[in-house]
Amino acid sequence: MRTTAMQIGGITPLTTIDFPGELAAVVYCQGCPWRCRYCHNGHLLPRGLNADIDWREVTGLLQRRLGLLDAVVFSGGEPMVQRGLPAAVGEVRALGFKVGLHTAGCYPERLDELLPAIDWVGLDIKALPEDYPALTGVPGSGERAFESLRYLVESGVAYEVRVTVHEALLPTDKLQRLLDLLREAGAGQIMLQHCRTGNILDSTLGASAQPWAGGARCPADQWPVAGCAAVD
Ligand code: SF4
Repeated sequence: MRTTAMQIGGITPLTTIDFPGELAAVVYCQGCPWRCRYCHNGHLLPRGLNADIDWREVTGLLQRRLGLLDAVVFSGGEPMVQRGLPAAVGEVRALGFKVGLHTAGCYPERLDELLPAIDWVGLDIKALPEDYPALTGVPGSGERAFESLRYLVESGVAYEVRVTVHEALLPTDKLQRLLDLLREAGAGQIMLQHCRTGNILDSTLGASAQPWAGGARCPADQWPVAGCAAVD
């Protein structure tokens, strides 16, 4: 039998925070075409390195967790880089699990094709389109992320748009313009998350003060009012 080709850098067997309302396992896919200055997952970025977990180990773990888990989340790295992802998603669905996807929107056409098989998406939108290359190192990355957003909003699949806020990369005026742009694009579930700067790709990027009180995440519709009921 042909084995699904996946490069996997890690697994979290159980989490309550990676797929809202569901008990999930997380599969960390190896490889990403971008190099965001604040990326915490440097070990997951090169393709082919550190990917010593066989896909059959994952399906074996899932079979042992039938009835205990609701969902599987494909995270990364960037899961959409994996040509084997549609087959892996199909196997997970066939086992009876819901499927979540964390993506930065690097591959809009692939995302569009896969969305009918996905139950929930966490999409990172990082900056205004024109500011993406300075953050990711890749020309055209902003256009790709926003094209992915358009496909996602049109799809009707449940989602959360995540915006990581570092004051040097996304000062208040730019954050406000970005939120306006997201709302114009029809995005309704937008969550701000404070950029933590420990162990990131670009060590010259200094720490950023959290632009709201409370937890590390804040619903965008509560910002910039004082006393935002931030959540962890
Ligand atoms: S898209 Fe995500 S995984 Fe890839 S470099 Fe940026 S933060 Fe890291």
